[in-house]
Amino acid sequence: MNTDIELLLKIQEFDKQIYQLESEFAKKLQERENLEELLTAHTLNMEQAQEEFNEILEDLNFKKNLLEEKEVLLDKLDEKSNAVQNQKQSEALNSEITIAKTNKSILEDKILEIQVVVDEKTKKNNEIQQQIDETKQKLEAFDAQITVLKNDIDKQIDQINKEKETMLNDINPNLLVKYNKISLWAKGSAVVKVENETCYGCFIKLPPQVSVLVEETEEIIYCPNCGRILYKKE
Ligand SMILES: [Zn+2]
Repeated sequence: MNTDIELLLKIQEFDKQIYQLESEFAKKLQERENLEELLTAHTLNMEQAQEEFNEILEDLNFKKNLLEEKEVLLDKLDEKSNAVQNQKQSEALNSEITIAKTNKSILEDKILEIQVVVDEKTKKNNEIQQQIDETKQKLEAFDAQITVLKNDIDKQIDQINKEKETMLNDINPNLLVKYNKISLWAKGSAVVKVENETCYGCFIKLPPQVSVLVEETEEIIYCPNCGRILYKKE
């Protein structure tokens, strides 16, 4: 095998390790982003719930005030009943009292109903708040973890690069430039074997004249389809 190809394959092994580490870290970042999105969703949920809750409380207070007014009215009517002078006045007052009492009772029922809703909503809001707190805690724990992981990955990549560097001087610089260019898109598969006259990068059958060159010469051959560097499988 061409010695440059041999070196490239070793370099590619190091690069694969680096890509692996980088993709591991990218996955972690994605997980973090998902948590962040979850937090945003919970927060929006909370804002909406809080808005609804405030409207209900407003309604509850409004009805409580009305109830107070009815109670004041009933007290007044009660006082009036002491000063009633005839049957007609008494009947009129009684009917007024009955209406006020009915209104009061309707209001009391409504207030009880609303109170039940308030209790339910309070429970729901507490649940959402708990979700927010939990997600925040997870994010904090994640960030602490991510910092450690990043340091660890950087160290490993530095180490790999150091080992890689020792080989870079021994390789044809033009070929190295080409390898790096191809690696930009073909991460970890810039140099691929040929088997059954097929490029193992794009898996397309090579023209006979190309596969002959790969099989029988030490030249650097590129796949005419994908542009990767080819080598003969020993
Ligand atoms: Zn190819």
